[in-house]
Amino acid sequence: MSWAVAVLRVSRGVSSAGAGFPCPGMALSPRGTAQVPLRGAWPCTPAAKMATVKSELMKKFTSEEPVRRNKVSIVGTGSVGMACAISILLKGLSDELALVDLDEGKLKGETMDLQHGSPFMKMPNIVCSKDYRITADSNLVIITAGARQEKGETRLNLVQRNVTIFKGMISSIIQYSPHCKLIVVSNPVDILTYVAWKLSTFPKNRVIGSGCNLDTARFRFLIGQKLGIHSESCHGWVLGEHGDSSVPVWSGVNIAGVPLKDLNADIGTDEDPEQWGNVHKEVIASAYEIIKMKGYTNWAIGLSVADLTESILKNLRRTHPVSTIIKGLYGIDEEVFLSVPCILGENGITDVIKIKLTPEEEARLNKSAKTLWEIQKELKL
Ligand code: NAD
Repeated sequence: MSWAVAVLRVSRGVSSAGAGFPCPGMALSPRGTAQVPLRGAWPCTPAAKMATVKSELMKKFTSEEPVRRNKVSIVGTGSVGMACAISILLKGLSDELALVDLDEGKLKGETMDLQHGSPFMKMPNIVCSKDYRITADSNLVIITAGARQEKGETRLNLVQRNVTIFKGMISSIIQYSPHCKLIVVSNPVDILTYVAWKLSTFPKNRVIGSGCNLDTARFRFLIGQKLGIHSESCHGWVLGEHGDSSVPVWSGVNIAGVPLKDLNADIGTDEDPEQWGNVHKEVIASAYEIIKMKGYTNWAIGLSVADLTESILKNLRRTHPVSTIIKGLYGIDEEVFLSVPCILGENGITDVIKIKLTPEEEARLNKSAKTLWEIQKELKL
């Protein structure tokens, strides 16, 4: 299929990857952005010489540049990036969405497909390019790109390959959006959030890992299933390292303020006759299970990233279990990123909630921190 988007607004005059260039005589949009005609959809006749439907229909009323406050860019238009994109679009959170990927065909195809949904939602401008200039002036950049683990490849080797990818990505992102917030989703998310923080030299509040936001959503859903209560009304937190070593904080699990631990003192332990601990085991297993069945996970992570995006763009100051530098908390003295409840607003992570953990939970967090640091200290940044 040929690249057939009728009009692609390209910020700051960047031509979209593989797309055409502005025709001679073609008016630039108020922001200096080129209206790129593709496949002859917009005739190249200079407007000054010939009356067009557009010039007859509309009289230019202002030369002011449009104000963009909520530009979001997504790097990586794979299954996760696109789930983030559609979730953000359906919530109407951004006024411009920029997509970047190495795979030009996929990038353009996904962009066109989203653009064609424009009549059905309050759609902002959706632009795409391999060139990071398209992301200029983003308020928030979401990173979902990265290398996949190859057969027999060690975790350290995968991380090092991702570091190489991140080096190029992060320097380009910060060049065009020096004041943005970064949300890292690519795995291993806690280590790559550290890598993004180091490479960007951003203050710690502006580099956020999606961390245990998804694990916590799965936890709340599964508790809800067990009780027959909507997950929104099931409160509980999964903290620490995203994935296999995450820590469920059973002491804090409650429904309408009623701690389940008050009703079952052994909840979450091996002694628990009801075996609630299986809920967390299921949280860990669910990613593997979904990947076995459909090849990847995307919808829940996309929705959860849109939720973080909403807190940031609307300055909601809600608490989320996201990955942040945890040095100085729970006896951890290395520069590692783990999930703790964080307050998210327009400046990113403004505060961390000092959640009380049991000695066992704290020990598990420390173990994760040590494992992560062992990997991080070997990285060539
Ligand atoms: P995918 O392979 O479908 O997509 C990755 C995309 O990144 C591809 O389109 C690829 O072309 C692009 N890409 C690779 N290198 C690039 C570069 N240098 N610049 C720009 N684009 C580049 O993978 P996916 O299923 O979308 O998953 C993406 C990441 O999200 C993976 O690391 C995955 O493990 C992670 N993930 C995280 C969570 C979480 O909770 N944190 C959940 C699910 C998936």
